[in-house]
Amino acid sequence: MARTDALVLGAGIVGTSIALHLAKRGLSVALVDRAGAGEGTSYGNTGIIEGNTILPHAFPSDFATLLRIAFKRAPEANYHLAFLPQVAPWLAAFHAWSRPARLVETAHTMRPFFARAVPEHEALIAEANAAQHVRKTGWLKLFRRDRSFAGTARERDLAAGFGITTKTLDVDGARALEPALEPVFQHAIFLPDVVSVSNPLALTRAYARRFEALGGVMLTGDARTLTRDGGRWRIATDAGPLDASQVVLALGPWSPDVLVPLGIRLPLAVKRGYHRHFRPNGNAALGRPVLDADRGYCLAPMAQGIRLTTGVEFAARDAPATPVQFGRLLPSARELFGLGEPVEAVPWMGARPCFADSRPVIGPAPGQPGLCLAYGHGHWGLTLGPATGRLVAELLTGATPFVDPTPFRAERFE
Ligand SMILES: Cc1cc2nc3c(=O)[nH]c(=O)nc-3n(C[C@H](O)[C@H](O)[C@H](O)COP(=O)(O)OP(=O)(O)OC[C@H]3O[C@@H](n4cnc5c(N)ncnc54)[C@H](O)[C@@H]3O)c2cc1C
Repeated sequence: MARTDALVLGAGIVGTSIALHLAKRGLSVALVDRAGAGEGTSYGNTGIIEGNTILPHAFPSDFATLLRIAFKRAPEANYHLAFLPQVAPWLAAFHAWSRPARLVETAHTMRPFFARAVPEHEALIAEANAAQHVRKTGWLKLFRRDRSFAGTARERDLAAGFGITTKTLDVDGARALEPALEPVFQHAIFLPDVVSVSNPLALTRAYARRFEALGGVMLTGDARTLTRDGGRWRIATDAGPLDASQVVLALGPWSPDVLVPLGIRLPLAVKRGYHRHFRPNGNAALGRPVLDADRGYCLAPMAQGIRLTTGVEFAARDAPATPVQFGRLLPSARELFGLGEPVEAVPWMGARPCFADSRPVIGPAPGQPGLCLAYGHGHWGLTLGPATGRLVAELLTGATPFVDPTPFRAERFE
């Protein structure tokens, strides 16, 4: 039986970053996935490394928005009616975590972690020779209504307090950055220090190649074959059984598939999301991701075309795709930017793994020695993958962690 120091389950941006960080510290590491690196949720995101994020996504606070969502008129959100009873306890917790004071508390809790998001990516990008996939051109957020722009004042004040640069722009200022945008908005906020990725799959693959160059081994296998044998863990892979004293579980939205049989039930929900690429009309182009804040979608320039990413959908992870939000938001997207023909026949669907307090779980699994958890990164998995990799590697090797891991412990749900 092959033996390794550490087994990392899940080769998304989170698991791949963890495996790379462990290999950098001299451990023998196997990274196991049933598919290729970066082909799960990490394939389809908007590509924004959101180190400048302040407030987490929140439950809608105004009645009009709730009504639009309830009547399935909202472009930013959708749900499957039959799934609501199942997700109701999670939604209640999310509602409680969306109170203004708690959002600010989360902002303070997460700040030290977010502050390392870009530097930790930059370190891996440099050693993985992946700079060609990355842009340092910031992020532009557009607001169609005065009221929604005014609603960002508290967040901008908090950002200033954290030393984060935000620039408020008028329509001309925004169009100076992105001349292809039609003036259908009133205000813009520009975050100049945000970094974005033109091909999230290629970035994860580059990190995986670097991991292999350091001696790491990538294997195909089903994480659900994980068993405990005495003090060690064992898994079946296409290359035969593998044995390790340490296992890191980074299966994103699929993490409960392994944890529930081990008796670990943490309150994870998924916010499903979709993307589709479009060819731009004529010479229309974008130099950075653009958020249409009032309509709840993003346009991001990607290697494959202009990627339109949707907001959230509450539905069972494995229920058939229902990409109805495109019908609701495409008219808005087309009045903002010259979107031409779609590139793919059908939209891509992913599932953001989310805890209601907008924090991932990172650290030891309760009652399972040698098992470390690293999942639930929600809207920020691309952003926080490398920072998570560093934190997990520091925890596993007994080094001093660069952030206090306490807020990320699984025991917070007990
Ligand atoms: C539409 C959309 C837009 C987003 N935009 C952004 C953004 O701009 N910035 C940002 O930071 N985040 C964004 N996110 C969130 C981000 O994509 C996720 O948080 C992140 O990809 C999660 O990474 P992960 O490694 O935890 O999970 P995954 O990438 O899903 O990796 C989990 C891996 O586990 C593997 N796996 C599953 N089951 C098994 C099994 N039984 N055996 C073996 N392997 C298994 C899968 O194949 C997969 O490779 C977005 C998400 C969506 C859906």
